[in-house]
Amino acid sequence: MGTAVVVFTRDLRVHDNPVLDAAVHEADEVVPLFVRDDRIAALRYNRPNRAAFLSESLADLDRALKHRGGHLVNRAGDVAAEVARVARQVRATSVHISADYSRYAVAREHRLREALGDVELRTHHGHVLAPPGAIRTGSGEAFSVFSPYHRKWLEHPLRRVAAAPTRIKVPDIAAGDLPTRRMICAGPTSPDLVRGGETEARRRAKRWLESNVADYDDDHDAVARDNTSRLSPYLHFGCISPVELVARADRRKAGVDAFVRQLCWRDFYHQVLADNPAVAEQDWRTKHDHWNDDDESYQAWKDGRTGYPLVDAGMRQLRQEGWMHNRARLVTASFLTKHLYIDWRLGAAHFFDLLLDGDIANNSLNWQWVAGTGTDSRPNRMFNPTLQQERYDPDLQYVKKYVEEFGTDAYPEPIVDHKQAVAAFRAARGKGD
Ligand SMILES: Cc1cc2nc3c(=O)[nH]c(=O)nc-3n(C[C@H](O)[C@H](O)[C@H](O)COP(=O)(O)OP(=O)(O)OC[C@H]3O[C@@H](n4cnc5c(N)ncnc54)[C@H](O)[C@@H]3O)c2cc1C
Repeated sequence: MGTAVVVFTRDLRVHDNPVLDAAVHEADEVVPLFVRDDRIAALRYNRPNRAAFLSESLADLDRALKHRGGHLVNRAGDVAAEVARVARQVRATSVHISADYSRYAVAREHRLREALGDVELRTHHGHVLAPPGAIRTGSGEAFSVFSPYHRKWLEHPLRRVAAAPTRIKVPDIAAGDLPTRRMICAGPTSPDLVRGGETEARRRAKRWLESNVADYDDDHDAVARDNTSRLSPYLHFGCISPVELVARADRRKAGVDAFVRQLCWRDFYHQVLADNPAVAEQDWRTKHDHWNDDDESYQAWKDGRTGYPLVDAGMRQLRQEGWMHNRARLVTASFLTKHLYIDWRLGAAHFFDLLLDGDIANNSLNWQWVAGTGTDSRPNRMFNPTLQQERYDPDLQYVKKYVEEFGTDAYPEPIVDHKQAVAAFRAARGKGD
C-alpha cells in the first residue's frame, strides 16, 4: 500500500479531515507534513495574531498525531519544492492536500503538481460543505445572490463525517522544528487572543451546539450578549470541520437553522472567490468610486476614535481580541466606506492585519458586500451608527466594555456629521436605497 504524504495547510485537525482520512486508508505509512511557506510570508499573509493561533494549532495537531503513534513533520521554504523533496525521500505513492480557492492556493496546487511529476497529487474538499462548482445556477454559473444559493445548498448532500484515525504510522524521517509564533511572524499580538487548536475548537463547538446555540436566533445581533459561536478562527484554520458541525447540530433545536445558514454564507463567498479570485482585491461589481484619500479619518477609524460609540467599540474589540462581533463588523465597515467614503480595500487590510479569522474569501467579500461593490442587492444602503447602537447595544454595555473614556470629556466628538455624510455618499454614488 506504500507511503502517502499529507500536506496540512489550513486543515489543522485529525477529526473529519478528508485529506488525512484518504491517506491513512490508502497507505501503510503516512507523512503528516507542514511546510512553513516562504511565499505566504513574502505575500504578507502572515500576521502576529494569526501566527500565534497557527503555532498553537500546529502544536495541538502534533500532540494529537503523537497520541496516535505519529507526529508532525515540519519543513520551511518553497512549499512545492519541500513537499516534492519529502515525497522523494519516503518514495511516496501519493500526496494529499486540501483544495483551496484563493489565487495563491490555486497557483500553489499547480506548482505542487508540476514539482511532484509522476507522484499522484490528490485534492480533497475539507474547508467547505459544498465545494465551489457543486452548486450552480440553471445556466451553469456561480451564484451571485445568496438566497437562491442557500435554497440549493440546503439540498446538497452532506458528505459522511470521517472518524479520526486511531493509529498513524510515520516512516523514519526527521521531524524538524515545530514553528513557533516568532518563526511564522514576529511582532506584538493583541492582548486577549483565544487559544488555537483542535482541542479548544472541539470544546467550544460541543458547548455551543449543546447549549448556547439555542438563543442564537434571538441573540446573534446583540453585541453585548456575545452569543455567537466564536468558531470563526477555528473554521478558518480548519481546527474544526464545518461538515461535522452541521452533522452534529440537532436541527430540532432553536437557533440551529440560523447558525447553519451562516455557515452557508461562508461557502457562498468561497464559491464567489473560486469563480473569480481577482475579487480578493478588485471590485466584484464596480461603482466607479473615487474614494476619499483621508489619512486622518482612516487613522481615527483604526484607533476607535470616530466619536461614534458602536464604531469605536468594535474597532477597539478588534485590536484587543483579534476578533470583532459580526454586527460591529457591519457597522464599522459601513462607516468607513460610506460615512468616510474610504476604499474598502484599506478597511479590509486593517481587518486582515488583526483578525484571527482573517480569510481572503470572507474578509474581502464581506467588505465588498458592505461597500456596495459586492453581492448586496441594495448596494447604497448605509447603517446609521447611532441607531444601530440604540438597537443592538441599548444599555451601552458593549460600548463601555471597550471604550473606557466613553461619557467623559476625553471621548471625541463625531469626526463626521451623519446627515452630511449621507448626502455626500448619495451624491458620490447617485441616489439609491
Ligand atoms: C466587514 C466584514 C469582514 C469580515 N471578515 C471575516 C473574515 O475575515 N473571516 C471570517 O471568517 N468572517 C468574516 N466576516 C464574517 C463574520 O463577521 C464572522 O464570520 C463572524 O463574526 C465570526 O463570528 P462567529 O464565529 O461567532 O460567527 P457565527 O455567527 O457563530 O457564525 C458561524 C460561522 O459562520 C461563518 N459566517 C458567519 N457570518 C458570515 C459571513 N457574513 N460571511 C461568511 N461567513 C460567515 C463563520 O465561519 C462563522 O464562524 C466578516 C464580516 C464583515 C461584515
